[in-house]
Amino acid sequence: MTKRNSGVYAVAVYLSAMLVFAFLCPAAEKVQIAKEGKALLPVVISDTASENIKKVADELAGYLKQITGASFEVKVGDGNSGIVLGTIQQFPDSKVAPDLVIRNTFDGKEAYAIRTDDKRLLLIGATDLGVSHAAFRFLESIGCRWFFPAKEWEVIPSIRDLSVSINESDRPALLSRRIWYGYGFFDRDKTRSIEEYNAWARHNRMGCSLQIYCGHAWQSIIADNRKIFDEHPEYLALTGGKRQGEQLCVSNPEVRKIATEWALNYFKKHPEADMVSMECSDGGGQCECENCKKLGSISDRVFGLANEVARAVAKSYPGKMVGLYAYNEHSEPPSFKLEPNVCVQLTAGFIRGRYSFNELMDLWPQYCRNMGYYEYLSVYLWDWDMVPGGRGANISYLQKQIPLYVKNNGTTLDCESGNNWGPHGRGYYIANKLMWNPKARVDDLLDDF
Ligand SMILES: [Zn+2]
Repeated sequence: MTKRNSGVYAVAVYLSAMLVFAFLCPAAEKVQIAKEGKALLPVVISDTASENIKKVADELAGYLKQITGASFEVKVGDGNSGIVLGTIQQFPDSKVAPDLVIRNTFDGKEAYAIRTDDKRLLLIGATDLGVSHAAFRFLESIGCRWFFPAKEWEVIPSIRDLSVSINESDRPALLSRRIWYGYGFFDRDKTRSIEEYNAWARHNRMGCSLQIYCGHAWQSIIADNRKIFDEHPEYLALTGGKRQGEQLCVSNPEVRKIATEWALNYFKKHPEADMVSMECSDGGGQCECENCKKLGSISDRVFGLANEVARAVAKSYPGKMVGLYAYNEHSEPPSFKLEPNVCVQLTAGFIRGRYSFNELMDLWPQYCRNMGYYEYLSVYLWDWDMVPGGRGANISYLQKQIPLYVKNNGTTLDCESGNNWGPHGRGYYIANKLMWNPKARVDDLLDDF
């Protein structure tokens, strides 16, 4: 997945090759960026650059100033010279374009290419996100590190004479990579906490080519149709002889219609969304009525509704997906295959039914072509944010498990974590690297840390 041939002059240690496996590419030409503390090239953006790209350009110029001591101008240009930052549409290049092709709607949205010749350093992305990745990967290749959120964990080298030769293209193995705080940003300074987390994610290229939405959704369907459900208590699940709770009576055709309309309406309201969830509400309480029982197992009922909604979505919003978990009472695959636009995340905890997690990892890809996984790197009630920490602190677990998810057809990984970088931070840093490249050399990353 990675192609590179790069060299950084004036940096004592050659850092980039240790991070990822490499194929040999034609040697890149060398370009000098700064000399004796003076900038030799401006940062060049297109006149159609988005606000996001302008922000990345300013941040790149800021870091280059810290590194070289030189002031780098950011200006609009044609890309024939300079530190050229933009999308392949903004700076077309037939040699770079094949590495930035987007396949199957999503794969490649984060792809980037870095090239050098005697007049240019090209930092090109398939999309704005790929452009950001190109910029921060370039900075990483010359020695910058952002181990944890917060400036104290930033490493910026000092290089007054900066020359580089890089020929590298890359895209992530997992199309959605998230390490997020299950219990939120509990911090005395919440705004700072959010900003520093976002900066960490941006600098370390954590992101999504495909925006996942698999979270519990049936309770929202009920809440958004409160009046109808108040008038029709029979739309709710029958449990303990009463119509109650937050699960649906999925055998009722009216309920299926409401769920379908809710999903279609979601895409109408959020045209930028890639996915809508059809995941049932959390906990048990599935319907015990005769008609629901006739539909089969809980998995047959939950995934059956998801399939029906997915068919409607495919018709009205081609390319959009329906997401849900394989979790709790619906951990097992249903007795039928899922529609091609259904995405399932199998949870690495709270599994119920006949199979172990490893057996489910083997089974599920036979039923669903868009498999993802949901991992628990830290849960406060399990590890109390204390040493020795949860799975996120266990490097050998991460080193084994993340490549296994990719091997088992995983295209997305959602990691429930916590704002607890003391016990878990090193693991979060390594997990993020493995999500991009499951063949990343963990020993080298640890040495570098
Ligand atoms: Zn029912």
